Amino acid sequence: MKQQSISNTISRLLMGSLVLIPLFSFHLRPERLTLPDTAPRRVEKTEAEWKKLLTPQQFYVTRQHGTERAFTSPLADNHEAGTFHCVCCHEPLFRSTTKFESGTGWPSFYAPISRQIVKELKDTTYGMVRTEVQCAVCDAHLGHVFEDGPAPTGLRYCINGVALEFIKK
Ligand SMILES: [Zn+2]
Repeated sequence: MKQQSISNTISRLLMGSLVLIPLFSFHLRPERLTLPDTAPRRVEKTEAEWKKLLTPQQFYVTRQHGTERAFTSPLADNHEAGTFHCVCCHEPLFRSTTKFESGTGWPSFYAPISRQIVKELKDTTYGMVRTEVQCAVCDAHLGHVFEDGPAPTGLRYCINGVALEFIKK
């Protein structure tokens, strides 16, 4: 829903700029006409294509909404400086500066690199109401976000380590 209203706002802004561009184009330098790059790129593949690219565990978690066993990912304990990317499309999703020790056994972050890069969806499986987190570029299931995280956001992005690849700084 939030994503929907953001895209509505963006389209309204874009439509507004398209109306204004012809009026003001004589006064603007060419680079001012470039529209902001707010929408993430898209990567779309078939299930068979993903299966070929990913390990069985990566495929199960990211494409079939699986959950890795707690304390099994080496990334849960990784406190090196760097960036965590989507294992499917390689988009940078989280920075090590927002990672914290949650004690859950899954890599935990208080914020993604940008709000546009992760999608949040309502998940009512297993008799719980949770907020699922997906990669906005390729729809990979990453994990869930909870409202019991540390400052400054109060959010806890609880992410499957197998859905991430770590690029050291
Ligand atoms: Zn992705």
